[in-house]
Amino acid sequence: MASTAIKLNSGHLMPLVGFGCWKVDNATAAEQIYNAIKTGYRLFDGAEDYGNEKEVGEGINKAIKDGLVKREELFITSKLWNNFHDPKNVETALNRTLSDLKLDYVDLFLIHFPIAFKFVPLNEKYPPGFYCGDGDKFHYEDVPLLETWKALEKLVKAGKIKSIGISNFTGALIYDLLRGAEIPPAVLQIEHHPYLQQPRLVEWVQSKGIAITAYSSFGPQSFLELNHSKALNTPTLFEHNTIISIAERVKKTPAQVLLRWASQRNIAIIPKSNNPGRLLQNLEVNDFDLTKEDFEEISKLDIGLRFNDPWDWDKIPIFV
Ligand code: NAD
Repeated sequence: MASTAIKLNSGHLMPLVGFGCWKVDNATAAEQIYNAIKTGYRLFDGAEDYGNEKEVGEGINKAIKDGLVKREELFITSKLWNNFHDPKNVETALNRTLSDLKLDYVDLFLIHFPIAFKFVPLNEKYPPGFYCGDGDKFHYEDVPLLETWKALEKLVKAGKIKSIGISNFTGALIYDLLRGAEIPPAVLQIEHHPYLQQPRLVEWVQSKGIAITAYSSFGPQSFLELNHSKALNTPTLFEHNTIISIAERVKKTPAQVLLRWASQRNIAIIPKSNNPGRLLQNLEVNDFDLTKEDFEEISKLDIGLRFNDPWDWDKIPIFV
């Protein structure tokens, strides 16, 4: 049986499969999280920006109260949103997350994007999303990432966060962060699917002892519901001949092949589903292996196609 957790450089174990909380409806989130815990999920990937931490926390706390699971058996991730990068606002944002979740600590807190928007007070709009205090205009703050990072390090020492990490960072930014960090990032979370593979980033980051979590493992699928034009114009991975023929051979679904493609390389995955059958299916992806030839075939699908790109927000050049 393949390993089902990754040992982080912080010493903590992170489950290889988790449940992603983006776009999980407020109305159903508590129940979905509760059911996911019942199904066997232990990692929940949330964020301030998803606007559902209260409901996610409700599901978690009900499951703990009902004796389905203990807090220490869960791995709860949240992410610092762009408006809170200034060191004086980092703890304020984390405290809001903890009080929404009704938890004393998170297992992992990530810098969501290497982008600092202007601060928006919590009572003005929370989560602020793309609001920077002035209608739909973007405004930024001059906060170097290392300063935000140092504020996170303090919160690890204060016991409010077990491990800290980054998301949507590229090689050069990570290289620079490592020069100044006292605590190295434990995890890098990135968009990662056969249409966007970034093999050098994966190889280098893993060689530095930083674990990788893949998001949007099904490529365009998640962005179809947002009517994202790139997703509407790209063949789905579930119907791609390469993925279908591997799925038929290993007697798994295309979704399971896409998830195993990452988990077999020790990359954590955080798919989301409301459907009980798929919920279980997405969790059961570590009991089969793809062959070297399968990996070679899937590597041919890489077209560098990124769906989640801040260039589309305000021409922010983090991936240029
Ligand atoms: P996803 O890859 O989990 O895809 C979700 C879509 O796939 C949904 O439409 C769902 O109904 C469908 N689906 C799920 N399981 C299926 C199955 N077995 N068969 C067929 N269809 C299935 O997409 P995502 O939500 O973009 O990414 C997962 C998680 O990653 C998010 O919930 C969030 O936690 C995280 N994320 C992080 C960032 C970031 O910037 N760090 C960005 C996007 C997502």
